[in-house]
Amino acid sequence: MYKVVIGLEVHCELKTNSKNFSGSKNDYSSIPNSNIAPVDLGFPGILPVVNKEAVKKALKMAIALNCKTPDEIIFDRKNYFYPDLPKGYQITQMHKPVGVDGYVMINVDGVDKKVLIHDTHLEEDTASLDHFGTYSLIDYNRSGIPLLETVTEPCLNSAKEAIAFLEALRSMFLYCGTSEARSDKGQMRCDVNISLMDENATELGTKVEMKNINSFNNVERAIMYEIERQTEVLSSGGKVIQETRRYSDEDNCTYPMRSKVDAVDYKYFIEPNIAPVKVTDEFINEIKSEIPMLQYERINMYMDKYSLSRYDSTILVKEKEIADYFENCIKEGSDPKLAANWIISIILGHLNKLEIGINDIYVTPKMLTELIKMVSENKISSKQGKEVLYKSLSDEKEPTDIVNELGISQIADDSEIRKIVLEVIEEQPQAVQDVKNGRDRILDFLVGQVMKKTHGKANPSLASNLMKEEIEKR
Ligand code: ADP
Ligand code: MG
Repeated sequence: MYKVVIGLEVHCELKTNSKNFSGSKNDYSSIPNSNIAPVDLGFPGILPVVNKEAVKKALKMAIALNCKTPDEIIFDRKNYFYPDLPKGYQITQMHKPVGVDGYVMINVDGVDKKVLIHDTHLEEDTASLDHFGTYSLIDYNRSGIPLLETVTEPCLNSAKEAIAFLEALRSMFLYCGTSEARSDKGQMRCDVNISLMDENATELGTKVEMKNINSFNNVERAIMYEIERQTEVLSSGGKVIQETRRYSDEDNCTYPMRSKVDAVDYKYFIEPNIAPVKVTDEFINEIKSEIPMLQYERINMYMDKYSLSRYDSTILVKEKEIADYFENCIKEGSDPKLAANWIISIILGHLNKLEIGINDIYVTPKMLTELIKMVSENKISSKQGKEVLYKSLSDEKEPTDIVNELGISQIADDSEIRKIVLEVIEEQPQAVQDVKNGRDRILDFLVGQVMKKTHGKANPSLASNLMKEEIEKR
């Protein structure tokens, strides 16, 4: 058995109006080559202008990742030739990234783990290439879109941990509003580095790198494949070669692409066209105040403070809007466990069915809280509560109005029900005697009479308790 060691390099496009260093639109889903400026095409004599919003969002992520932030923002040139890079260099950060030495907490199968972040840095995306039989097309819309690259230390030890980290990272982008982080749109892409080592070894094994894997599913499959392949190489006495491999999801295996021997020297140097910008404490504090409580902390809070299970807590925090909705229910006075149950068992199903978000539904946290109260105060049964909630969602009417309209509110008032119980006892002396003689089944008959007199509106368990109480007195 070998120990698995994985380090990830994750690229994610930041959500901004314009590109990182030009005024063209940050949106490459429109007509090819329509969102482009001379800067994005690398025309001679061009001068980049730093997008403050991109820097702010990059710093926001750095802080969310518990990284140290720099005293100034500077950029570096990474020089290489490729058709998708018209300038011949990419503007990135090497000397002073927006964040270094951070960590992210994850939980895999109930076990907490601190994933160490080497650094996170702001750079620009390249153009996109589309390859056909005998020619390729290039679209510069993507050229210059702000890209945040987050690099972990080699500290992940299984495919599960790698996926848990990627999910935690994606949720951070969503919670912080810094990216849509959609891998199906190519916004989030991942390089996987993986090596195996003897369980007792002190030095890391030779790693293999797999570039640009575009879905979490494929990351998992690529890791599983490499573990198997490297295990075979090592256990047959061979050596893993340090190289870049390509993962193909069609055949679910990896192929060698290039070996590290011809690794490029990027000749990094500080980008001379961008003056350093000082990062003030004020700016950092402003950004900090905009970071909401994140997934991991919310899960722990729901478990500790509200006694929810990890399973339910994890469902509630999947989307920040749902977590906020849940917390707003509690602010309105809902019992946390009940609110969680109603949201998970009914509202989430409704959202999935209609493919809408929780903020699109008619029922507000206040309305749900009122409904939950009606059920716990026995005004309506929980079965009726469910029907009312469904109706409220579909007819866009307040739960209290529906209860009134349908006239289904139960009589849950002791004295009102007791009055009717006494009436029934008066009218049914024989049945009362039978109950006293131990014929328990007759009690149901007497409660049935109470239900009849109230047209089914008495709360049955309350009616039953009062009936027992009154008969015992006799
Ligand atoms: P390189 O010099 O090849 O760029 P780095 O040390 O900069 O390598 O690390 C790049 C990525 O590879 C990081 O995510 C890091 O965690 C990971 N990594 C480094 N060494 C190993 C290893 N032996 N096994 C697995 N991952 C590794
Ligand atoms: Mg490196």
